[in-house]
Amino acid sequence: MAEPKRQPGEALPFERLAIIGIGLIGSSIALAARRFALARRVVLFDISDDVRAEAARLGLGDEIVASFAESVRGADGVVICVPVGACGAVAAEISPYLQDGAIVTDVGSVKSAVIKAVLEHLPPHARFVPAHPVAGTENSGPGAGFPSLFVNRWCILTPPNGMDGDAVARIRAFWEGMGANVELMSPDHHDLVLAVTSHLPHLIAYNIVGTADDLQSVTQSEVIKFSAGGFRDFTRIAASDPTMWRDVFLHNKEAVLEVLARFNEDLSALARAIRWGEGDKLFDLFSRTRAIRRGIVSQGQETPEPDFGRRKI
Ligand code: NAP
Repeated sequence: MAEPKRQPGEALPFERLAIIGIGLIGSSIALAARRFALARRVVLFDISDDVRAEAARLGLGDEIVASFAESVRGADGVVICVPVGACGAVAAEISPYLQDGAIVTDVGSVKSAVIKAVLEHLPPHARFVPAHPVAGTENSGPGAGFPSLFVNRWCILTPPNGMDGDAVARIRAFWEGMGANVELMSPDHHDLVLAVTSHLPHLIAYNIVGTADDLQSVTQSEVIKFSAGGFRDFTRIAASDPTMWRDVFLHNKEAVLEVLARFNEDLSALARAIRWGEGDKLFDLFSRTRAIRRGIVSQGQETPEPDFGRRKI
């Protein structure tokens, strides 16, 4: 896969970049910032002693510090990489130490609630450019990161109206420097789109795997032993970080409930088609959905290999 290249002599997006929260996303940004030369110095902080120790063992960043204050002091760029529900608390912790003109960004999977929570605390001299890289895996923690995570993936920026162009341009350059394709959107629209494309699929996966686990007449060992492709794919999604996803649903409540209501209606229509033997309805839907899959593959967002390119046994 092609990797992003910076032009010789091009200014670094950041001199001193602070990354707060060293999980999958924070560690991937730390690795990418170094690989693609996006900051002169990368400083990492996480509230967990164990996570900081693991990040040090993995050699992430240039410096791992033990407080919010040390992480953001003198930083011209700050990336908040913690679960959505913790972003406001992190903003409150870092605010007193942010330098004049510091650009603060985040990676939260929900935008409206995060923006509200963060802006409550940030001082007027800081510039907040919210972002969401639409890239991830079901793994979490500092060891899960890899520098190419964002290559050829989308990163959605949702800057507030009137945000100064320089801050948005620097965050755009930062994400493009990690290989992402950047798009701007309003926070509400982001939350609705992601409710459809990401949040609802996760809810369905958690629900299906939970239902299979709860079925009294099918033992858990049978669920594991006979897991067919479709169910296995759901288990991958349902293995995603529980804290992160609890926070996503609690903070994108309205959009998720709206999309879920629509989903329930469509599911009832499918049940009806099965009950009444309306094969043409099923066939039409399955043909439409097959075309969507092909569109995703043709845009390079998924491998065309059968079974996601899993190793053949
Ligand atoms: P993760 O692997 O669980 O890492 C989050 C890290 O933040 C953990 O080390 C956690 O420590 C730490 N943390 C929690 N609260 C904190 C606080 N108040 N101050 C400092 N550190 C704190 O999560 P992730 O997958 O990187 O997700 C981080 C953010 O990225 C979330 O907002 C998520 O919505 C967004 N995102 C995730 C994905 C994905 O696929 N995973 C994709 C796009 C965006 P503890 O473990 O001790 O709690």
